[in-house]
Amino acid sequence: MDTTINLLDLNVNMLQEKLEALGEPKYRAQQLWHAIYQKHIGALEEATTLPISLRTILHDKFRLGNLTEINELASKDKHTTKVLFGLPDGHKIETVLMRYNKRRTVCISTQAGCALGCVFCATGQMGLDRHLTVGEIVEQVLWASRKLSATGNKLTNIVLMGMGEPFHNYTNSIAAINRLEDSTGMAIGARRVTVSTAGHAKAIKQFAKERRRERLAVSLHAATDNLRDQLMPINRRFPLDELMAACRMYSSITNRRISFEWALIDDVNDSEEHARDLCKLIGNIDCHVNVIPLNPTDQFHGNRSNEDATMRFKTQLDESGIPCTIRVRRGLDISAGCGQLKSENTVGIS
Ligand code: SAH
Ligand code: SF4
Repeated sequence: MDTTINLLDLNVNMLQEKLEALGEPKYRAQQLWHAIYQKHIGALEEATTLPISLRTILHDKFRLGNLTEINELASKDKHTTKVLFGLPDGHKIETVLMRYNKRRTVCISTQAGCALGCVFCATGQMGLDRHLTVGEIVEQVLWASRKLSATGNKLTNIVLMGMGEPFHNYTNSIAAINRLEDSTGMAIGARRVTVSTAGHAKAIKQFAKERRRERLAVSLHAATDNLRDQLMPINRRFPLDELMAACRMYSSITNRRISFEWALIDDVNDSEEHARDLCKLIGNIDCHVNVIPLNPTDQFHGNRSNEDATMRFKTQLDESGIPCTIRVRRGLDISAGCGQLKSENTVGIS
């Protein structure tokens, strides 16, 4: 395993210390920081504000990033690109770049795999390899920015909805978000960042107490403990009572609207009764429901709900005064839809 330090794992103070240890003045760290996070250099040789001699030393002592592009797939409609990255220890992750309407959104991973084992999710089906480091999380965004700037475009949104549970890797996920939002670097607005959690109630409370300004999405998928226990094992650790208490605490501290995710599964969570249970559960929370027609994965044999059931579900929520949108399914021909990411680039259904 490669043990050289990844520069992307260092914050600005750490970077300064490293350069000072090499006998370099403070402003060199600023120049390097600027080159990485504002110019989005892909290699140290491109940091042309630094003298060549320093670039050579840095090149010998450090590396700029951990991710190696193994494969890239583009959807037929060209709106979605999925990349498979290799990590230095052999694990692999996927990242998705989406260009729809006026948004250019990158969906990033926070872990290689996931320990939470939601039965309908390809990442959950593979188990956890390991947490990603701050640099590995940030680098996926740098990749997206570089890719977009090649066509004269800019990244507009970031969603932590790729592989893994961001709140299981809380410290690194938050440090990565801070890095992305740093005004001396990429300066991405907090409102353009969405963190999605499978319902880690304790971390939601922490997120609220820290008064984080990013958008929060909570993957619900079931409104009774009995059903949610079967679909999402995390529910046994944080049952709905506790999860909802955390959501209410988040709402009252931050005054932010929560987005609840609901993957609609035929005959599992798509009946009138399920919609009624959901309205009862979240009716007194300022929220929005995002219905995601289930995407296919290898090890889950449920199907997505048909169009009638989907519309009926949405109408029931609308009539209860709960705003609801049905997420457009995209990128399925390259298995880049929600819950389809894993450690191999597979092509999906058209
Ligand atoms: N671990 C986090 C974020 C990554 S998953 C979480 O669970 O929230 C991103 C979203 O995809 C979540 O809402 C998740 O529930 C959803 N999802 C997982 N598998 C899916 C599938 N097969 N079809 C549709 N959505 C899925
Ligand atoms: Fe993990 Fe989210 Fe997939 Fe559940 S849905 S297994 S929490 S990535």
